[in-house]
Amino acid sequence: MALSIKFIGATGMVTGSSYLVTTAQSKFLVDCGLYQGGDAADRKNYQPFPYHPKELDFVISTHSHLDHCGLIPKLVRNGFRGKIYSTPSTRELAEALLTDAAHIQEHGATEKQIETLFIKADVDQALSQFETHAYNQTFISGNIKICFQDAGHILGSAITEIWVEDKKLVFSGDLGNSPVPIMRDPTPIAEADYVICESTYGDRLHEPPTNREKKLLAAIRYAKQHHAKLIIPAFALERSQDLLYTLNLFRNTNQIPKIPIILDSPLAIKVTKIYKKYTKLFDETFQQYLKTDQDLFDFPGFSQTNTVEESKTINDLSGEAVIIAGSGMADGGRVQHHLLHQLGRPENQVLFVGFCTPGTLGRKLISGATRVRIRDKSVSVRAKISSLNAFSAHADQKGLLAWLSGFNTNPTVILTHGEDLARQTLQGKVTRQLKRQVIVPKAGQIVKLN
Ligand SMILES: [Zn+2]
Repeated sequence: MALSIKFIGATGMVTGSSYLVTTAQSKFLVDCGLYQGGDAADRKNYQPFPYHPKELDFVISTHSHLDHCGLIPKLVRNGFRGKIYSTPSTRELAEALLTDAAHIQEHGATEKQIETLFIKADVDQALSQFETHAYNQTFISGNIKICFQDAGHILGSAITEIWVEDKKLVFSGDLGNSPVPIMRDPTPIAEADYVICESTYGDRLHEPPTNREKKLLAAIRYAKQHHAKLIIPAFALERSQDLLYTLNLFRNTNQIPKIPIILDSPLAIKVTKIYKKYTKLFDETFQQYLKTDQDLFDFPGFSQTNTVEESKTINDLSGEAVIIAGSGMADGGRVQHHLLHQLGRPENQVLFVGFCTPGTLGRKLISGATRVRIRDKSVSVRAKISSLNAFSAHADQKGLLAWLSGFNTNPTVILTHGEDLARQTLQGKVTRQLKRQVIVPKAGQIVKLN
């Protein structure tokens, strides 16, 4: 069979990333991600794979976000025993995130759960199948040559170059935004026959996050002045580290008063440890700061709470404190416990630092709800609720076009990982500005690469 790609997930949507590449001799996947965002998406996770997992020769994992690697343990549970290629830091982060996901699966924490997708033993089996390769180190699998390049999205995220038969394919993975704290810019690639590119923000430009620091500083100062709590719901991966890094810089430059800052999330603590191990992969500014401060995620007044008991004692703390806890949309996790205790007091604040999808507790609070239900209790909202325009971890339209313009071999561009409007808008731009052929596949479509 001729070389082809079947577009399984993240086609016309942004979750469930998975592309099946078929060559004359082999079959492999690029990503095997979880569908996220509502019941219809969730149901897809339980459908059988549209291929036999045992037939796959290998899987490439571009990064550790669950919408890119979250179904790998299910693949293993269904008999896949080939290699899983990733960067070393992606494997470590995937270990933390998938173990956490298995725990949630095993304890049936989601009401909508139909059956257990995978358990911890599947995650352990998957981890034993990982083979890691650093950025810019070419390796061979069968007669296919592969190389990871820094995508600048989160720690370990990779653009994947694949030389197969007489073609070169480049999968963008999720492409980073520029400039953002900590991460380097996405690596420009010059050559390809086909570029499979994400398009999450293909129809939008990011607003400059100019007031971000000011808002964060003002919220911390307010908490100090009013001897009150500032609760920041944040995702364990990337957003929590971004916050700690920013708070550390505030502390080093004496911009914030003395105030306890607590990271109350075992997963975020684990992920931060992994970030500290791989500081060499971070950008030039990070390297400069490292010369005068050896730990850019730790500072005087900062503490972290691992156990549930430690977490509960936070509510006995009198006086001011900043509490960072998951989840970012407040639809689960320890942050709910803090909200339950703190929302009723008008001197307290809740500051959202990321997007909250409709239906989540976070969205209800941002929209001005005066009463919310948390863990079967009705709570009145008297605390001050606000949100700030955080850095996006994804390139916007300008960033995507800039990266695509770096190819000098006039490749065919295949757009994935975007809603249809985002893909069509970017298609127009790439066709007109870069004069390249663009394919916008439908979910389930097989694209032949001639
Ligand atoms: Zn991602």
